[in-house]
Order: sequence, then structure tokens, then C-alpha cells
Amino acid sequence: MADLIDGKAVALKVRGEVAARVQAFKDRHGRAPGLHVVLVGDDPASAVYVRGKEKASAEVGIAGHVHRLPAETTELELLGLVRALNQAPEVDGILVQFPVPRAIRQSEVLRTILPEKDVDGLTAPSAGALWSGQPGLASCTPRGCIRLLAEAGVRLEGARAVVVGRSNLVGKPVAALLLNENATVTLAHSKTRDLPDVCRSAEVLIAAVGRARMITGDWIRPGATVIDVGMNRDAAGKLCGDVDFASAEKVARAITPVPGGVGPMTIAMLLENTLLAAEARIAAQTGR
Ligand code: NAP
Repeated sequence: MADLIDGKAVALKVRGEVAARVQAFKDRHGRAPGLHVVLVGDDPASAVYVRGKEKASAEVGIAGHVHRLPAETTELELLGLVRALNQAPEVDGILVQFPVPRAIRQSEVLRTILPEKDVDGLTAPSAGALWSGQPGLASCTPRGCIRLLAEAGVRLEGARAVVVGRSNLVGKPVAALLLNENATVTLAHSKTRDLPDVCRSAEVLIAAVGRARMITGDWIRPGATVIDVGMNRDAAGKLCGDVDFASAEKVARAITPVPGGVGPMTIAMLLENTLLAAEARIAAQTGR
């Protein structure tokens, strides 16, 4: 049976580390790192995510602020707020909760957020920095996956890693992070031929597909480490991953559960990104 990679425990550890560094930042600079989240409209799932971010920020001492805007907000109004936050010295991180209402173009929002405040790591300059090995902020869920692998003691250098899913949010950045750790990375997607064979070549398998229990135990190389990013509802309405946990845990060396694996890491890494953004901004201002 595979070892469980406990995302709740690792997320708690990350939050503890961030809280200590936030305190040190406050002692040194006389203010807390600031995270401003913008929520447009009344999508219930987004409202829950934003409340989670607000609560988690407060718990580690980050100065969190949520801008709740009505669903009728125009693109011009939203971009105006983002530009004001770009200029505000006390704001280190800006996160616009997606999806935004249809009348607002996500691409324009991302084009407007300053890369040094892009704590979600979703802007094109952030993605470019990640792929070209430059300093910058990388997206939270992918960073969470890498931290889980580190905590599980997985050596990535030289390892064969397969990522299933190539979204800008998860698949591509996690592939870039694995490459930066010197893994040999295959990025698979819906057009990949012989996907089960490709997956069976993986010493490290990352599933970010969005299809309930698609990856079964017979797709997994014995002794592999499996990170399941998927958050799906099965036909019975039960939360489950992209990996069929019951068959996969018989083959893998270590595996993340859903829930309780990658999920809790996302907010923890957002808090860490906010701290990193604050530290980098101060360093850029003071030359230290
Ligand atoms: P997405 O934007 O829908 O991308 C899905 C990717 O999977 C696409 O690249 C798609 O390929 C690929 N794909 C779809 N069907 C496939 C198949 N049958 N075989 C191989 N590849 C297939 O999804 P996402 O935003 O990356 O999210 C993926 C999953 O992670 C979802 O379940 C989401 O809820 C979850 N998620 C969890 C967290 C967390 O905090 N735990 C955060 C973000 C996302 P093509 O590009 O060829 O279409």
C-alpha cells in the first residue's frame, strides 16, 4: 500500500513558516505584507474561496483586504481598481478571483496586474519568467505540488515525470517547475496517443485533468509517486480526484488523497507568494 502524502499537514507547516516570516517582516519593516483580493459578482463557489483566503491571511498576520464588486461592474471599472492597487505601496499581492463575469475579459485583467504583485502567477510575464528561469512568482497549486514532492522525499533530479493536463493554471507551470528541478518532463493532454503507456513510464505522475478517477492503477508504474490535482464530483456527487485512488494506492509508492492532498496547499502557497512578493518589493526598493 502506498504512503499517503498528507497535504493538510504540509499546508499547516507552510502556514507556520509563513507566519514566522511575516512576523519578522513586520518587525523589520513596520508593516504587514498586504494581499488584496478582488471578487466580482456573486458566484457562490468563488465567494467561498475568497472567504478562505481572507481567513487564512488573517491567521498568518498578512494584511488581507477583499474588494467585493457587483456583477454589473464594467471591465473599465475593474481595470481601474487593479491599476490603483498596482500603485498602492501597501499592496504586495493582487488576486482577481476567476471566473469574472462574461462582460470582462480575463486576458485584459491579467495584462493589467503588475507582475511583481501577481501572487497567482497567472500573468504572461510570470509564466515567461518561470519558463526562462528568471525570478518571479509561480502559480500556487503547481508550487504546492512541488512542495508535496519535496516533503515526501522524492528526488526529482533525473526522474521521469509525466504531467497529464496542459492548462495555464496547473499543467504547464507544474511542468516548468519540474523541469527547473531537473526532472525529465512529458506534458500529456487530450490528444496524447497511448496515454496509459505514457503514464506507466512515470516515476512521478501529476494528474491535472478534471475527469473523475480517469487514471487507474494499471496506468501507474509500480513504485511511482502520484500527485492528484483533480477536484471532481463523481456520479454520486462525491468529491474525488483524477486518479482512481483505490486501485492506484496498491501500485504507487506514495500518493495524495482527494480531499486532503493538493487542495489545502493552494492557499498555503498563496500566503507564501504574498510574503515573497513583499520581500522582493522591499529588496527592489532598498537594493537589499
Ligand atoms: P482545464 O483547464 O480544464 O485543463 C484540463 C487539461 O486536461 C487540458 O489540458 C486537457 O487537454 C486535459 N485533458 C482533458 N481530458 C483529457 C483526457 N481524456 N486525456 C488527457 N488529457 C485530458 O483544467 P485545470 O484548470 O488544469 O484543472 C484540472 C483539475 O485540477 C480540475 O479537476 C480542477 O478542479 C483541479 N484543480 C485543483 C486545484 C486545487 O487547488 N487542488 C487547483 C486548480 C485546479 P487539452 O489541452 O488537450 O484540452
